[in-house]
Amino acid sequence: MDIAVIGSNNVDLISYITRMPSEGETIEAPDFQLGCGGKGANQAVAASKLGSEVLMVTRVGNDLFADNTIANFKEHGIDDQYILKTDATSGVAPIFVDQQSRNSIIIVKGANALLSPEDLENAREDIAKCKLIVLQLEINLETVYAAIEMGKELGIPVLLNPAPAAPELSLERVKSVDFIVPNETELSLISGMPVDTLEDISNAAAVLLDAGIKNVIVTLGARGVLWVTASGEKLIEGIAVDAKDTTGAGDAFIGCFSHFWVSSGDIAESLRLANYYAGDSVTRQGTQKSYATGEDFRERFG
Ligand code: ATP
Repeated sequence: MDIAVIGSNNVDLISYITRMPSEGETIEAPDFQLGCGGKGANQAVAASKLGSEVLMVTRVGNDLFADNTIANFKEHGIDDQYILKTDATSGVAPIFVDQQSRNSIIIVKGANALLSPEDLENAREDIAKCKLIVLQLEINLETVYAAIEMGKELGIPVLLNPAPAAPELSLERVKSVDFIVPNETELSLISGMPVDTLEDISNAAAVLLDAGIKNVIVTLGARGVLWVTASGEKLIEGIAVDAKDTTGAGDAFIGCFSHFWVSSGDIAESLRLANYYAGDSVTRQGTQKSYATGEDFRERFG
């Protein structure tokens, strides 16, 4: 096993719209797609498509979405022994994407909210076989904190994607992670600092470094990514693409970074590749299905 993703799965209900509706307004969407999503699942699928062996620890509901989600994990070759069936609704995410590729997303956590520290204990033996634990914030924070503790106990590096932005996240309880990968909004919330300029972003990242986090990797959308450590910072510029749908770009980035970092241990090179991989994904509609396979990725970018 290469990577343990402990996190969410959702069924994405994606409406492609010409503009966002105003309050109280009903509009028609010219196009609609149903897809498997959720930050945890997306990151697991990206890493798996690139060739990593991924263990997914997650909860699905007992409705028609659950079988679909399990089948999707299996189809992508993701280890499914800890995809736990729950007497609840599955997580669902109504997503709206407009013609400028801006998106609005509503998350219904459903079974994801029931993934517990006990579930992680039950999976401990298999998590222990992994080289990286990957976490996001679409499950209960107590479960996230328990996973970070487990990583520490097992001596496994932990990557935290603090998304979606959670005001109640305790920096104190996540300071032992090896990698934190926020976007600008999430960085601002965790650090309590403005992020209007690159200098602001460096200063905000410094708050996380001061707390003890070794690598702060800030995704900047089309501008790329800023990697900040105690010994300096590096801006990796975004690739110029014709963006069609940026939904799930952050997840593509993390799945790809995790895959290459686990296989090479080279952070700079893994960031460079993840920047390409995520940039490539925004040229296609959808989340998981916009992620390239390892073969396609090599073909496009060498
Ligand atoms: P989302 O929530 O939509 O998944 P995010 O806010 O978590 O996105 P972003 O910072 O928007 O994450 O994007 C993640 C990465 O994807 C960027 O660091 C960059 O590598 C790539 N990316 C995103 N948008 C673009 C774009 N328009 N052009 C090129 N690369 C992009």
